[in-house]
Amino acid sequence: MGTYARQDIVFIRGEGCWLTAETGERYLDFGSGVAVNALGHAHPQLVAALKAQAEKLWHTSNLYRVEGQETVAEKLTRLTFADKVFFCNSGAEACEGAIKVARRYHYVSGQPERQRIIAFRGAFHGRTLATLAAAGNEKYLEGFGPTAGGFDHVDLGDLKAVEAAIGPETAAIMLEPIQGEGGVRPATTEFLQAIRGLCDKHGLLLVLDEVQTGMGRTGKLFAHEWAGITPDVMAIAKGFGGGFPVGAVLATAEAAKGMTPGTHGSTFGGNPLGMAVASTVIDIISEPAFLEAVRDRTLRLKQGLEGLKDQHVDLIEEVRGAGLLMGLKLKPHVTPPQVVKAANAEKLLLVGAGDNCVRVLPPLIATDQDISDGLLALSRALGRVARETS
Ligand code: PLP
Repeated sequence: MGTYARQDIVFIRGEGCWLTAETGERYLDFGSGVAVNALGHAHPQLVAALKAQAEKLWHTSNLYRVEGQETVAEKLTRLTFADKVFFCNSGAEACEGAIKVARRYHYVSGQPERQRIIAFRGAFHGRTLATLAAAGNEKYLEGFGPTAGGFDHVDLGDLKAVEAAIGPETAAIMLEPIQGEGGVRPATTEFLQAIRGLCDKHGLLLVLDEVQTGMGRTGKLFAHEWAGITPDVMAIAKGFGGGFPVGAVLATAEAAKGMTPGTHGSTFGGNPLGMAVASTVIDIISEPAFLEAVRDRTLRLKQGLEGLKDQHVDLIEEVRGAGLLMGLKLKPHVTPPQVVKAANAEKLLLVGAGDNCVRVLPPLIATDQDISDGLLALSRALGRVARETS
């Protein structure tokens, strides 16, 4: 179906931060398949893990215990706030599952009327009917029939509005620590802490969508760690599988208490192939030295982007984001597709976003050389855009 406005490039091979097109041309991938290829392309350890599992067992369903799920759940619960994990296959499914966990918690706590979830304008939680309703973006909801109910929307950063939206039917507050698709718009540390406080005060669950910000993308394993808070429920996907489709809902034992046999499920969720890859991804990314290296590169990238902003004040309004989830907010007369196209011409891949922003999302394994190459290509691309728009 014609659901994507695709670029006319076919990639046939990848290695590290580089992709090779069928024409033989090489592109530096600073989009990472939209924040997915955290360990770049064809990472030897991921390839080996997938191959080894492929030769043993592909699928058994969730009718039986799945060894890989137990291994990955043990790692995730050891490394995070969570006690319980549900495995699925994508970010939307993880967010949908997180919404179900939150509502079910209040249902089994004797407050079934608590069903409403406060979410934020500009958010993106996926393309299922409930996650679209959660984000409330009219453009994505148009033509798809009745909007799923139970979501109240407020502006990111507006604490008073959040407080005013809390009522006797509120179950949870759901947000991305940094809105990715919405244009790399961070929630401040103070805001996240205040939201945590409001959840505690009113008996609400804090649901974080770390589908894009998680798995080392911001230089910590999960972005909420920067704010020194923990959620009750968290959705992850994207980088979690490093390119293999896998997602998860993480929760405290208390928040997950309603998720008893029969309440939720997935045929493919937690499939042995996905688990073998995710287990290896976690091992690599959770190493303190790995995250430390990500933070080093972050500085280099951020400084470079700030330098480009100074050179192109007429094109770039702001450099924003955290870690290797950076965004260039463009001036009103420049569009993200213009910059993405100019970057493509310079053999650099970037990703557009909302709020007139272009995302710079290198794989977490990008070397200093990759970052320098990317900044040089971006500089040339911005030069192109400057010529086109002058
Ligand atoms: N949540 C966030 C924060 C995302 O960035 C995305 C995808 O961009 C999703 C959810 C949906 O993930 P998926 O496309 O895997 O369903």
